[in-house]
Amino acid sequence: MELKTFNELKVEDLFDSNTFLNKHFLYCNRSGCNSKIANKGVAKKVFLQGECDLKLPPTKSLNKDAPSATVSNFNPDNESPPFYWSLEDMMKFENIGFSNTVDNLKYLICADCELGPLGFRLTKNETCFIAADRVTYKLN
Ligand SMILES: [Zn+2]
Repeated sequence: MELKTFNELKVEDLFDSNTFLNKHFLYCNRSGCNSKIANKGVAKKVFLQGECDLKLPPTKSLNKDAPSATVSNFNPDNESPPFYWSLEDMMKFENIGFSNTVDNLKYLICADCELGPLGFRLTKNETCFIAADRVTYKLN
């Protein structure tokens, strides 16, 4: 299974230019985990403003038993993703986990190794946002 990081791909190849939906499967960023997060065509490319334009904390695994393999080509200090993938609700995911509610949001984490935050969900509605550079991509 070949996975590519955000930095290995061209942004314009990640989404359909008409629908803005993701063209590739989304996977966990941690090598050795690679849990599937979402199928193609379920997540829409969005830029966030206002209350949603928050700084994401650095990614770490919340699960002490998770494999200790390094996360490849990943910049843990990138608090502001280039864009987000918006998913209507958690039923659109294949696998996703939630952290505890912090202020008015829940952080999204890998359901298997608990790497996160990969994105967030505001508590006032169902929409979930995944940071485009905090997941890996499987082509076809
Ligand atoms: Zn994982």
